[in-house]
Amino acid sequence: MSIELTIKQDVDLSSFNTMGVSAKTSFFVEVCTIAELGEAIQFAEEKGLEILVLGGGSNTFFIKDFTGLVLHISILGKKFSSREDDILVKVAAGENWHAFVLKCVEMGIGGIENLSLIPGSVGAAPIQNIGAYGVELEDVFENLEAFMIDSKEIRTFNKSECKFGYRDSIFKKELKGKAIITSVTLKLFRNGEVNTSYKALSVLLESKGLSKPTIKDVSDAVIEIRQSKLPDPKEIGNTGSFFKNPVISVQQFDLLKSEFPELPSYPVTERLVKIPAGWLIDKAGWKGKRIGDAGVHSKQALVLVNHGKATGEEIWNLAEEIRLSIKEKFDIMLTPEVNVVG
Ligand SMILES: Cc1cc2nc3c(=O)[nH]c(=O)nc-3n(C[C@H](O)[C@H](O)[C@H](O)COP(=O)(O)OP(=O)(O)OC[C@H]3O[C@@H](n4cnc5c(N)ncnc54)[C@H](O)[C@@H]3O)c2cc1C
Repeated sequence: MSIELTIKQDVDLSSFNTMGVSAKTSFFVEVCTIAELGEAIQFAEEKGLEILVLGGGSNTFFIKDFTGLVLHISILGKKFSSREDDILVKVAAGENWHAFVLKCVEMGIGGIENLSLIPGSVGAAPIQNIGAYGVELEDVFENLEAFMIDSKEIRTFNKSECKFGYRDSIFKKELKGKAIITSVTLKLFRNGEVNTSYKALSVLLESKGLSKPTIKDVSDAVIEIRQSKLPDPKEIGNTGSFFKNPVISVQQFDLLKSEFPELPSYPVTERLVKIPAGWLIDKAGWKGKRIGDAGVHSKQALVLVNHGKATGEEIWNLAEEIRLSIKEKFDIMLTPEVNVVG
């Protein structure tokens, strides 16, 4: 039986991207089932349209309009099952990530409490292997299911097949635009240890006298820290970290450290060091700067913001100016963490 899809034309995407920039898509469809997904892809293929998958739009940045079909993933559902001490949870791609984390916390299920308050959908979480406060998605990842655009089949990917890295996975590289994630299965726990290895988190928990914090204590603390540092996209448009933290060689780091002794760093391997991009941007004098309505957040220089009516192009121009100035001052080329369209 064929499915009746509602495919809209010339849709404004301002409310589908957390930067809040105005960009139009030629076609837009909301898909709630895998069958609808198949139909929507068939429509795009018949019309020769490029496909763009959108969840919450909190890691997608539109420089200009999109001339293709936006697939807004709204497939819902969660299934919890026990396996010895573990709880396996299969979650559909369209579920809201933070609401899912809160549900687990409420049920006393641990493993993702450090990832509280990250905006967006469950289906997008593996794309850049979301991470915060000492935990990355890959730490609790079991497998995922994806609709393969070429074969029209559902394929299961285990952890090693996803090739997770720092804000990276196979879905940003070899399989970019080829796989649509329909569900994610995580391995969570009921009686495990919480992770308080991240300094700011342990400091806050200690200050509250919580020497043996619960899953909920950790989630609450993460939410408190995030709310004090990061702008809420409902109040001011942003996509969280605009750039990735650069990873440089130890030799380059030693050279920079001699010029900037206070330069912070995190070891990655014996030869590689990660530098906070926000520190570089701040040090180059960009924090709180504004060009028209495009700006750099006043508390966190890694976050570019839309003060109101900035266009994608204006914010992109600001990002380019920042990149050039960081290259000039530190000889480091920043790369965007956001997925850029246009
Ligand atoms: C205030 C703020 C704070 C943030 N903090 C963090 C943080 O701490 N850590 C972190 O890692 N990220 C953070 N982010 C980034 C963002 O929340 C995550 O990357 C999130 O996973 C994006 O989800 P989304 O549904 O909004 O993705 P979208 O922007 O809709 O999509 C992101 C990318 O994934 C693709 N995609 C989406 N869904 C699917 C799917 N089902 N199948 C295939 N491809 C898909 C899209 O095509 C796009 O390329 C933050 C963002 C904001 C605005």
